[in-house]
Amino acid sequence: MLNKIPSYTNKILNLLNESGYEAYLVGGAVRDLLLGREPGDYDITTNAKPEVVRDLALTQGWKVVDNLGQNFGCCVVVVDGIPTEVTTFRGEKYGEDAHKPEDVWYCKTLKEDLSRRDFTVNAMAMDAKGNIYDYFGGQEDLANKLLRTVGNAASRYEEDALRMFRACRFVAQLGFTYVEDNPSIGGFGMENTPYYLEKNYKFPVERTKGLSLERIRKELDKMLVAPYASKGLMLFMGTGLADAKCRVKENGNFEEIDILPELRHLVGLKQNPRFHCYDTWEHTLFAIDNSPRELLIRWALLLHDLGKGQDGIRTITDEGQPRDAGHEKRSAEDAVKIFARLRMNKDLAKLATWLVAEHMRFVGLFKIEGNAALLRWLRAEAHSGMFHNNEEMVFAFDKLTYVYLADMGATHAGFNKELMTKARELSAKLMELAREMPVANSDLNISGKEMLEFISKDRIKEAFVYLLERVQNGNLPNSNAELREALQKHSAKAQK
Ligand code: ATP
Ligand code: MG
Repeated sequence: MLNKIPSYTNKILNLLNESGYEAYLVGGAVRDLLLGREPGDYDITTNAKPEVVRDLALTQGWKVVDNLGQNFGCCVVVVDGIPTEVTTFRGEKYGEDAHKPEDVWYCKTLKEDLSRRDFTVNAMAMDAKGNIYDYFGGQEDLANKLLRTVGNAASRYEEDALRMFRACRFVAQLGFTYVEDNPSIGGFGMENTPYYLEKNYKFPVERTKGLSLERIRKELDKMLVAPYASKGLMLFMGTGLADAKCRVKENGNFEEIDILPELRHLVGLKQNPRFHCYDTWEHTLFAIDNSPRELLIRWALLLHDLGKGQDGIRTITDEGQPRDAGHEKRSAEDAVKIFARLRMNKDLAKLATWLVAEHMRFVGLFKIEGNAALLRWLRAEAHSGMFHNNEEMVFAFDKLTYVYLADMGATHAGFNKELMTKARELSAKLMELAREMPVANSDLNISGKEMLEFISKDRIKEAFVYLLERVQNGNLPNSNAELREALQKHSAKAQK
């Protein structure tokens, strides 16, 4: 175990120990080392006061970032160019604020410091020799893959409401099962699916109203791209967090906003069993797990079927089965509103909305032979103004193929090798054609400067339109020689 602590962290632990202080690796780093995973960062906790830590570090010539004012008891020590947070043992008392403690103080013992931490698996310490200090059953929970708060869950969430989102995020990152000592409110979700929550709990979600949107979005993003995203999302939905509110500060005033209540109606929403093995929520989770761990793709998949079951979308077929023709358009409309409300990055929101809007296009193309329909689609997208150039369009279509394959893979078709092979071939063909489809003048293999050899400056614009159209329509190859020749002919004709 010892050799797993990197030398830059060990140097700090040793320096503090040799100077007569206790010092331990703590929190996520201990958890990850015990799991055999590479920790993201290494935090140290010590009974030395920050001034002492700083002075000792300076004797070694290490750089110290002294941010005592911002983070009580914490100073960042930089060894071999790598920063480590060294925090003095501390206690916390919570009050009005939904996240920040009302009072913080230095405490004497490691145990007290560990007791303020959120989950048992995050509340362990390790000394420089590799000994583990575990007062709350963290190792047992690690072995059983359980996420459990230190102390009573409801009270710990009443203290700091962000911990509820952290619970979902850690479940998603670690793949652990969330448990409380409080009685469960029963199971949640569709039984006999990998997503079913056997024991679900009610979170005190009222408290999230005081949390800032930024903090919540960070947790949601981390949860979405995590290896077990569906597990985190299931807890997020089961406990009522999805329907909770948070706040955003605008023009000096706090505005209360919904987090993601729109997802609720997907739970238990039936789909046509001819295509689907799951209800819409479980299908959404399946699709997310099926997809690359990229934020853009996962946000798109989270919202891709929101339109299903809505008034004006859902109809019943002659066989009495649900049908949601055109749901993707409604999903995209909802996505626009949700992304705006959650103040998402504008580029991500725009592209994710496009992915949602386009995700059903492949279904119609599946049975069509030849390239004509694919080319028509690509041409329309090239003209739509959505993309500035071919590179942008290829990027978007590449993501779309992943959304499509993840979505299709999360239906009965996903278990049909032949169909999935066909779907992958269709995607590959589309990408091949997309790479050849120019969007902007800069995608043509001829420059404005070269054009001046044949035409006057005032006709360049029109000439680009002419060439672009012909290449997009497949009437002219996008090679320099052929573009030059075509332009020569075009200008000769125009002069007649
Ligand atoms: P990550 O791998 O994401 O860095 P982490 O467990 O290191 O996970 P951090 O947010 O870096 O999480 O926090 C470091 C440690 O501080 C946690 O392991 C936990 O012990 C404690 N901690 C952080 N945030 C809270 C909180 N809101 N409430 C209680 N303890 C917390
Ligand atoms: Mg950390």
